[in-house]
Amino acid sequence: MNVLIVFAHPEPKSFNGAMFDTAVRELEAAGHTVATSDLYRMGFNPVSDRHNFTTLKDPDFLKLQAEETYASETGGFAPEVEAELRKLEACDLLILQFPMWWFGMPAILKGWIDRVMAMGRTYGYGSIYQTGKFRGKRAMLSLTTGGPEEAYRKGGFNGDIEAILRPVQRGVLEFLGFEVLAPQIHYGPVRAEPGQLRTWLANYAQRLQSIHTEAPVAVGQY
Ligand SMILES: Cc1cc2nc3c(=O)[nH]c(=O)nc-3n(C[C@H](O)[C@H](O)[C@H](O)COP(=O)(O)OP(=O)(O)OC[C@H]3O[C@@H](n4cnc5c(N)ncnc54)[C@H](O)[C@@H]3O)c2cc1C
Repeated sequence: MNVLIVFAHPEPKSFNGAMFDTAVRELEAAGHTVATSDLYRMGFNPVSDRHNFTTLKDPDFLKLQAEETYASETGGFAPEVEAELRKLEACDLLILQFPMWWFGMPAILKGWIDRVMAMGRTYGYGSIYQTGKFRGKRAMLSLTTGGPEEAYRKGGFNGDIEAILRPVQRGVLEFLGFEVLAPQIHYGPVRAEPGQLRTWLANYAQRLQSIHTEAPVAVGQY
């Protein structure tokens, strides 16, 4: 497989950094080709605006989806967006590695999605969900939380993790046509014992050995 891992944590020595390093190492050792986007180290600009494009169809009024469609037709994406689009289009498996921030992704990763998941190139009229351009490819969220696991069950004080992840798993990944693998979630690594953290990393490494054979999960609809 060609795997793209998009990593969003400001500290490479964090537990998220260890998850990212583990995935690169294990997937390469298993014979896969791994591309990465380490967004903080790249200094990726998450702001989606006219700088996404080299030329504009309408310089007087910025309508992003219209410009994305135009850039898709004319090869008019800015180089940093075009480079990410090519990595995305080449992958068989997309992994997003991030800490949960405010029940969602860090802004740098949300911005990567805002800029790279462009209309025309990654979706369009008639090309969403089951007819999406990424059908046949798979995607997985790998994330950490601050809160403990019991807080993220139905009725827990933060609520159902599946519902919290649905905007990304359904609204982004399935919308684009990806089949979604079960998320890799590590709850509260900050309070975990070092031995527990090492076990989690080892279990993740083991999962990655056979991830190419995993079946997708139902992420639920609204
Ligand atoms: C802006 C913001 C918003 C937030 N919103 C939420 C929210 O909505 N919900 C929520 O639940 N939480 C929230 N949090 C908390 C956040 O999700 C957690 O702090 C984060 O997920 C912890 O992951 P980390 O990688 O940063 O952990 P770290 O603190 O980096 O790591 C935890 C431990 O792992 C150790 N470690 C690192 N590498 C290894 C290794 N190779 N082997 C063994 N141990 C290792 C580290 O030494 C450390 O002791 C928020 C945090 C911020 C900053």
